Amino acid sequence: MSQPKLIFLGTGGDAIVVGKQMLSSGGMVLQVEDNQIHIDPGPGAVARAADYGINLRNNVALCVSHNHINHANDVNAVISSMTHGGLDRTGVLITNKSAYEDNMEMQPMLNRHFKDKLEKDIVLDVGKRVGINEVEIRATHAEHTDPHTIGFKFFTPNFTMGYSSDTSYTKEMVEDYREVDLMVLNCLSPGEKKIIGHLNTEDVKKLLPEIRPKLAIITHFGVKMLETDIINEARQIQHKTGVQTIAAKDGMVLNPLSYSVNLRQKTLNLFKKQ
Ligand SMILES: [Zn+2]
Repeated sequence: MSQPKLIFLGTGGDAIVVGKQMLSSGGMVLQVEDNQIHIDPGPGAVARAADYGINLRNNVALCVSHNHINHANDVNAVISSMTHGGLDRTGVLITNKSAYEDNMEMQPMLNRHFKDKLEKDIVLDVGKRVGINEVEIRATHAEHTDPHTIGFKFFTPNFTMGYSSDTSYTKEMVEDYREVDLMVLNCLSPGEKKIIGHLNTEDVKKLLPEIRPKLAIITHFGVKMLETDIINEARQIQHKTGVQTIAAKDGMVLNPLSYSVNLRQKTLNLFKKQ
């Protein structure tokens, strides 16, 4: 069995960091056995995948947590990559309502043209679940400026992983993610710096003793976070909560079974595997 991997195609959070690409914003890729699941394809998802040697043709699922640029901008480009522009109808889109439906306050990032290019598309409401081969994906609670935002919980044969998406601290999160093995938290700002609909370091310190994951990973950093020492923020979280905590980096590859971390170097390989 090949080892599972979680690859960060981006760790940028707010409009400034993403807008200037101070950090990348391609989302995350989870590889479990033969399943490659791409989560929140923000601007540059296709480019960063190529940079880090990830073949998007291998995506069996694409998950979109909400309809903001930094999470969903490249949804169409990734579908096109997955399906060779629709020649090969493959893969499943798992999305929240607002990135998909046309009757929302904001136009959905998903272009109607690309809906038909997939094998299946599923709008997932909180508490609902879907099975993709050996992996079950459940939609979790989030409280964000896109009111339809969802988080995700992944159940794989050997580990569970929570992904908060963008959210404030809520009691529901504690129930949703209790005792997951791996918890990925979008921690936009340091200390007590509050930005509506987002977690800061103090929120994470409050959450982790309640969730008790084996490993917490903070990511999705805003400009205030970049002005501080992010690694020190992670250290402080770990010190306060007793939960092993690391700060994600662009190109970071993590083995969810051993928690070993490597950095994937950008490749300049012009002749990638098809
Ligand atoms: Zn957002």
